[in-house]
Amino acid sequence: MRITVKGITFSYNSAPILDNVNFSLESGQILSILGPNGSGKTTLLKVLASILSPKNGAVFLDGKNLAEISLSGKAKIIGYVPQRSEGFNTSVFEAVLSGRKPHVHFRIKKEDIQITERVINVMGLSHLKSKSIMRISGGEFQKVIIARALAQNPKVLLLDEPLTYLDIKNQFEMASLISKATKELHLITVFVLHDINLALRYSDVFLFLKEGRIEAFGGKEIISSEIIMKVFGIDVEIKEMMGSPYVLIKNG
Ligand code: ADP
Repeated sequence: MRITVKGITFSYNSAPILDNVNFSLESGQILSILGPNGSGKTTLLKVLASILSPKNGAVFLDGKNLAEISLSGKAKIIGYVPQRSEGFNTSVFEAVLSGRKPHVHFRIKKEDIQITERVINVMGLSHLKSKSIMRISGGEFQKVIIARALAQNPKVLLLDEPLTYLDIKNQFEMASLISKATKELHLITVFVLHDINLALRYSDVFLFLKEGRIEAFGGKEIISSEIIMKVFGIDVEIKEMMGSPYVLIKNG
């Protein structure tokens, strides 16, 4: 699968929020969208998820305009995890199983149950299976939401700050798990992550956004103190750590 974003512009009212955004991604790639607050990261993710329609330009999935794909077709392809999700009184198991909805025609099959069980195990949620999602922690709830998106078996996984409420160990475990799933299942994953170093370690493509415009797009080779200064306005040093760039903020 290939996503091609062509000449996207978007505005909520008169102020432009996304301005001529162009890039493309292939199966197996993990993209991190990086930029300061208000630069348009969530908006871009929502355009990719087809929750917002661009004013100009289009998103193509294997050459097909996303705007022309049916709702049920999109639900089978795109898994979207928003920054905030609502929880209602259902068990962890049912919440993850609900990710199978786009694939269920008449009734839930054995396969749906098996996929749900597998994802719950992989995500380390087995002990919470029958607990209500109203009575689990913020971090556990975040895992359930990611599990639901994985159970959906999407081809494109869009994650908006999915690790915010997780402790440091779980952040790494989840990022590593999502990265593994992306490679093994040939997904296209797009992350918006708070932690730039986590993003650098677990992504292979980067898109720097500033005031709705792409400042840089590419692999690890585009990570430099200059681009970080330009986009975030902070003075940093880039070190190499286990084959990934690592950003250290300088004093003063
Ligand atoms: P980021 O994710 O990079 O923090 P967003 O995409 O959330 O940025 O927001 C980009 C800009 O769009 C901000 O200036 C924000 O105030 C504005 N914005 C976001 N959502 C809405 C909305 N629903 N209505 C009007 N303006 C919005």
